[in-house]
Amino acid sequence: MRIDLHTHSSASDGTDTPAALVREAKAAGLDVVALTDHDATSGWAEAQEAADEVGITLVPGLEISTKLHHRGVHLLAYLPDPTYAPLVEVLGRILEGRSSRTPAIVAALRAHGIDLTENDVHREAGGSVAAGRPHVADALVRRGVVADRTEAFATLLSPGQPGYVNRYAPQLEEMIPIVVAAGGVPVIAHPWGRRGGTVLTEEVLAGLRGIGLAGIEVDHQDHPPELRERLRAIAADLDLLVTGSSDHHGLGKVDHDLGVNTTDPEEYERLVSLARR
Ligand code: AMP
Ligand code: FE
Ligand code: FE
Ligand code: ZN
Repeated sequence: MRIDLHTHSSASDGTDTPAALVREAKAAGLDVVALTDHDATSGWAEAQEAADEVGITLVPGLEISTKLHHRGVHLLAYLPDPTYAPLVEVLGRILEGRSSRTPAIVAALRAHGIDLTENDVHREAGGSVAAGRPHVADALVRRGVVADRTEAFATLLSPGQPGYVNRYAPQLEEMIPIVVAAGGVPVIAHPWGRRGGTVLTEEVLAGLRGIGLAGIEVDHQDHPPELRERLRAIAADLDLLVTGSSDHHGLGKVDHDLGVNTTDPEEYERLVSLARR
């Protein structure tokens, strides 16, 4: 069984439609794929239809933008009830924060002398409800300002750079119980990746487990081998699930091909058994 529990479609900042993503997952030899768009469940229905067609198991999920001590933390939420009111409400606030950030980023870049319009960004965002910096990056590529998303993040869109604008995100400690109450399974995405930094220590993870955290994503491209082994040891200590995934974004992120990391079938079975759905 090959299981990839973290992918993005054009419902957020991936470049494949949900249906195309699922078909690619099948072609890549996966048996299970989770669709975990940023802050949005809008790709689920199309993905499920494609999954039924090609014969692959789809795990509906999300990657929720949260904050812990002012640092961004991405929380994967598997199989939550997408109609659970507190979840709907908080996702609405995050998406509203994303929409209102776009004009602010465009204004900041224009003030920096870059010729870019809100329309450029909307065109790149297309069917995505979760407008974000990757779409701004794509607009900058089309304008010839940068060569690719990587250069846009390296030079213009990251904290401290001319086009960086903060946006609303709920606290991680507030979000984990909401996911659990929605019947979902909360797993921290790439805990020691680019944005996690050192806030997610074993002590902090132990506290989060106490409020319902179910697992951590260990096998992720942001984690070099020695970090994976340390995280695996922490997960064993704390009895947290261990997941592995590609964090595939289509053409939007290099070195994140479908199935590049996978989740152990036993961990996957445990995860599914924790969902109330
Ligand atoms: P946002 O959600 O708008 O704050 O933008 C963050 C998103 O940008 C994350 O989901 C990443 O997938 C993506 N991202 C961050 N750094 C890079 C990079 N260097 N290249 C491509 N995508 C990136
Ligand atoms: Fe992303
Ligand atoms: Fe992430
Ligand atoms: Zn992701």
